Amino acid sequence: MKFMVCPQCGIANFYVKNSIGERLNVKVTREFVIIPVDKSKSLEGFNLNELFCLGCSWHGKINDLKKFL
Ligand SMILES: [Zn+2]
Repeated sequence: MKFMVCPQCGIANFYVKNSIGERLNVKVTREFVIIPVDKSKSLEGFNLNELFCLGCSWHGKINDLKKFL
């Protein structure tokens, strides 16, 4: 499966946060579907409107991600 990557550093690993600041590691498919890296975890309660890169300081919206070439 191909994943979207960070526009700043080019890795495909991100996290999202919930209202109490917990982090969940996710990836984003080319169809802009957010999936948890740990498939036993749920996205419920997490804010999917803001993604944080695990490799650099980038954070932003899913639409700002780049396709890995
Ligand atoms: Zn990055």
